[in-house]
Amino acid sequence: MGIAVATLKARLDGLCTQYDTAPALERDPLSVPLTYAEPLDQELAAFVAAHLAYGRVDPMIRAVRAALTPLGEQPASWLRDHSAPAIQKHLGQALQAWAWRFHTQLDLTAWLLAWKRLDAESGMGLETHLLPGPGLSTDAALSRLVQRLRRELPASYGTRFSLPDPLEGAACKRWRMFLRWMARTDWPDLGIWTGYPVASLVIPLDTHVARVSRFIGLTARATPDGRMAMEITDALRRLDPADPLRYDFALSHLGILGDCPGVRQRSTCGECALYSVCRAGSKSAARIRS
Ligand code: SF4
Repeated sequence: MGIAVATLKARLDGLCTQYDTAPALERDPLSVPLTYAEPLDQELAAFVAAHLAYGRVDPMIRAVRAALTPLGEQPASWLRDHSAPAIQKHLGQALQAWAWRFHTQLDLTAWLLAWKRLDAESGMGLETHLLPGPGLSTDAALSRLVQRLRRELPASYGTRFSLPDPLEGAACKRWRMFLRWMARTDWPDLGIWTGYPVASLVIPLDTHVARVSRFIGLTARATPDGRMAMEITDALRRLDPADPLRYDFALSHLGILGDCPGVRQRSTCGECALYSVCRAGSKSAARIRS
């Protein structure tokens, strides 16, 4: 017998009570954009933080802070006020020793200059570049921007790593996370893009979310790709059609904080709110009752 939707929803609400907390947010890249006061500065910081959000969380957050420090307290205004050559010169000096895994200082500078160009075209940041419209789905809008940036940015490994295309089957975790931060208005997200459809957001799929989602029947797929992200999101939409990503932060932080041993045992699972619906280590796969 499968897991009833109402039961799963109640357990995930319990997981939010456990993990939707200020200490968990401190160990999330979203903590960086939240330190800025102005929405456009938050957007720019989010654009940087989301795309550097891979690898170990604590050094990654330090790398994001270091990347933004030379732009001052109002990084969006700073980029608007300086020419591309002046920006390249300043960051070349200030971030000479900066790197984050696949991303070099040159990749970061190219990323910031891309934001500057896109902002100059719209006059209001990136939202209009990613909005769906008649005949243009949210994924088609994202794909269009990704393809444009592939043409415009230097063909380095770091840049290519930042530009997966959802229409090519990629999960696009870091873009999905950026979109969640920008569109959702509930905790912990920024909710700056009031025109972006929250109901259309797709889960930022990482290994933590993929694993726990299998344990509780949100997906039966094995490969963490775009199709798994869609399947999990569709399952979450049954719990909350208007806001399918409301459980994303808690699901990911159960793993990020190292609290899920991957085998369901009371002695090691602590007080996990998902215990009664989790099938981790069981021979029978979890599935949601239809
Ligand atoms: S394995 Fe344990 S900690 Fe992980 S989701 Fe299942 S019950 Fe929770």
